[in-house]
Amino acid sequence: MFDLLPYNTFGLDVKAKEGIIIKQVEELALIKETKTLFLGQGSDVLFVSDYDGLAVINAIGGMDIVKIDNHYEVRAGGGLILDDFIKSLLTYGIFGLENLSAIPGTVGAAPVQNIGAYGCEIGDYITEVEVYDLDTKRLFTLSHDECQFGYRTSLFKEQKHLRYFITHVNFSFDAQFSPNLIYPGLKDEELKDAMSIRNRVISLRERKLPDPRFVGNAGSFFKNPLVDLKTLEKIRAKFPDVPVFSQDDGTYKLAAGYLIDKAGCRGITHGHAGTWEHQALVIVNRGQAKPHEIVSLAQYVAAEVEKLFEIKLIPEVRIIGKDGEISWDQI
Ligand SMILES: Cc1cc2nc3c(=O)[nH]c(=O)nc-3n(C[C@H](O)[C@H](O)[C@H](O)COP(=O)(O)OP(=O)(O)OC[C@H]3O[C@@H](n4cnc5c(N)ncnc54)[C@H](O)[C@@H]3O)c2cc1C
Repeated sequence: MFDLLPYNTFGLDVKAKEGIIIKQVEELALIKETKTLFLGQGSDVLFVSDYDGLAVINAIGGMDIVKIDNHYEVRAGGGLILDDFIKSLLTYGIFGLENLSAIPGTVGAAPVQNIGAYGCEIGDYITEVEVYDLDTKRLFTLSHDECQFGYRTSLFKEQKHLRYFITHVNFSFDAQFSPNLIYPGLKDEELKDAMSIRNRVISLRERKLPDPRFVGNAGSFFKNPLVDLKTLEKIRAKFPDVPVFSQDDGTYKLAAGYLIDKAGCRGITHGHAGTWEHQALVIVNRGQAKPHEIVSLAQYVAAEVEKLFEIKLIPEVRIIGKDGEISWDQI
């Protein structure tokens, strides 16, 4: 059995039938197992049981930088720790990802859900993603458009592409620094350079989010729901201060943390699972939690929100069972 405790930030004591740590692309060709689960740091997964297959851990390193005219092209190994990568870029004077500082996980997993924070999404900087298809044993490159980046989603989440192992990610960054200060907490005249934006983002995150080294969690448990105008108006009638973000497609994004808070679920504890006091959207392991305790707390929170707002929350976290990913409704 392969211990998954170091590979899930919820800190759940779960195992895989087998595991392999991939440091070189060539090692992927040795994989014969047909039931596989790709993992970086396990900061976006919830195991609801042991996994009856091969855990394939991405540890492919390396970083190449080329400056062409007024931009930098960067190729990064998928196993690099994202925050180390961002820090290295800044020390080379390459800007763009500073708003994503301190998001746990690997570079290779970042395109999967098109990670985002503080007004920035990683997909906006990705030019190509290199993958190894475990079914066809083929290495190939997907363009930005082929990756189909959306709000916390991409082609890599589709069932038929779950055997695409991301080996490298290619980025393009403008050589000219232009700060992204859209997020209200970043509107500050003192934030003149990328390193001060990074430091501000880190301190905002530290205030709001639990550190998985001390409190097991996988960040935002649910996605922020998108609603139509009619639903928004109904909610606004009862909760005029509801935070709303208008989307280009005419829908409205609501802050799931606000809904959970209003439903009376911030800082609650059931058994060994709870919601974080400073950000209700984060479900935490209060120590020794079993997978079923995390699941039943999440189901309770979702039910309370639905009762009050008639909105169904959908997990952002990937739920992994004995045979692989399972949907929320299957639990
Ligand atoms: C405290 C905390 C804060 C967070 N804040 C944010 C945030 O602000 N914004 C945000 O977007 N996310 C956030 N997250 C979620 C998480 O950090 C990201 O989703 C991250 O990209 C996951 O990286 P990972 O290496 O841990 O991936 P894992 O959790 O190991 O894997 C995530 C998914 O990607 C797949 N995958 C992993 N590696 C590969 C690969 N090489 N090829 C193909 N598929 C792969 C896995 O099968 C799984 O389905 C947060 C998490 C925590 C714990």
